[in-house]
Amino acid sequence: MVLDSVARRQTALRAAVRQGLVGPDSPVLALLDVEGIRATVRDLRAAFAGPAPVLHTFAVKASSLVPVLELLHSEGVGCEVASPGELALARAAGVPASRTVFDSPAKTVAELRDALAEGVAVNADNPQELARIDALVAERSAAGLATASTVGIRVNPQVGTGSIGAMSTATATSKFGVALRDEGAEDRVVTAFLDRPWLTRLHTHTGSQGVPLQLMAESVRIVYELAERINAAAGRHQVDSVDIGGGLPVNFESDEVTPSFASYAQLLRTTVPGLFDGRYTLVTEFGRSLLAKQGLIAAVVEYTKSAGGRRIAVGHAGAQVATRTAFVPDAWPLRVGAFDQRGEPKRGPESVQDVAGPCCFAGDLVARGRSLPELAPGDLVALYDTGAYYFSTHFQYNSLPRPAVHGFSLDERGEVEFALVRRAQGIAEILAESGAAQSGALTWRNSGQAGSGRGAGDDGKAREGASVHPAPTGR
Ligand SMILES: *Cc1c(COP(=O)(O)O)cnc(C)c1O
Repeated sequence: MVLDSVARRQTALRAAVRQGLVGPDSPVLALLDVEGIRATVRDLRAAFAGPAPVLHTFAVKASSLVPVLELLHSEGVGCEVASPGELALARAAGVPASRTVFDSPAKTVAELRDALAEGVAVNADNPQELARIDALVAERSAAGLATASTVGIRVNPQVGTGSIGAMSTATATSKFGVALRDEGAEDRVVTAFLDRPWLTRLHTHTGSQGVPLQLMAESVRIVYELAERINAAAGRHQVDSVDIGGGLPVNFESDEVTPSFASYAQLLRTTVPGLFDGRYTLVTEFGRSLLAKQGLIAAVVEYTKSAGGRRIAVGHAGAQVATRTAFVPDAWPLRVGAFDQRGEPKRGPESVQDVAGPCCFAGDLVARGRSLPELAPGDLVALYDTGAYYFSTHFQYNSLPRPAVHGFSLDERGEVEFALVRRAQGIAEILAESGAAQSGALTWRNSGQAGSGRGAGDDGKAREGASVHPAPTGR
């Protein structure tokens, strides 16, 4: 059944309440719109279709959930990873090394060795990393092994900052990539390529949310021109792919998808036509724009109160699932929907309310001074556009559990089908993550040895596996 995304979301929320996925015993739930994700990938692919070959990857940090990566992979999107954990998720999702790109500003030698052995593409962040890769390439060739990995250099065109400083990666002083406009830097990049025939890619990523499209396109233009310069100097088509990163901003103010992949791709095609003529393979690394609008968080309102004339609805979605919104509210506002306990949109007179979460600090708010139908205990609030970097990027404050994540789709009759993507975290898992198995690690000396000065075996070295010491058996 074809419903628009708002109708699908509403239908799913109602069904989730009916099935008890969210309610008094399960006060927070995350939902992902499976058809919405598929449609978004189709938009991406259509926007960048031909004549240049394209490898689309998904920035795993935006939704680090294996079934999501599998779904994207089934739609032809690989993975951009930035840690061994993210690489493991990509592998678990069946994404082949040839469709995986490894970008981290702090790759260890072991991580690089592993990536090169697997054939995962690597974008070197800086000259020191490149020197490590040199050594690893030499190590491999001494062992008679070629490298199947595409290796590139990440450059920072230093085009400037967007509206959120912390999200702007191509500023003059950004920590990422080789700062291209620094004295002599561009020449050194050219030389680095001429010295290394296996370097074949340039990479840039200008920022994540808040960066104007013109600035992103300007970065891509600078990188394209550098590729042309390197290839002219090399006398061959040495740089044969350009990774343009991700960073397409998301509209958090309404359900309208703007800017679209189509408008960004069109801007790139007019700004950098040579990049699209088929001589270069394009790599993309979108994250937020693929998932944000496909997810929502539903949370139960536990209490409503007023303090100093301020009305506050205290519920179960706070900084643990909406970390950036709680800590940097002006940069990360979220739309909030009000629903009754059956999951129907609330009607009735609106009043100005704050929506607070369960965390024990005063700033734990997901909305401030918002005009909403008067919320009451047992109602639900829905946080929209939270499919990327929200519930998938949990913050373990107050030992609050990660909520369950369900994907939803509608069958031909309009019935909602849920598929569990991630179980809700249970108390046993919280204990395990919180050192419960190391119980006694800090107190074992209390038993018997108290007052005896340094305990036996205390050689000044950290003890390995503190859990081997039994917990104190009495005091
Ligand atoms: C975070 C990141 C992305 C994705 O950014 P979005 O804003 O989510 O599209 C892509 N590439 C790199 C290198 C990143 O760090």
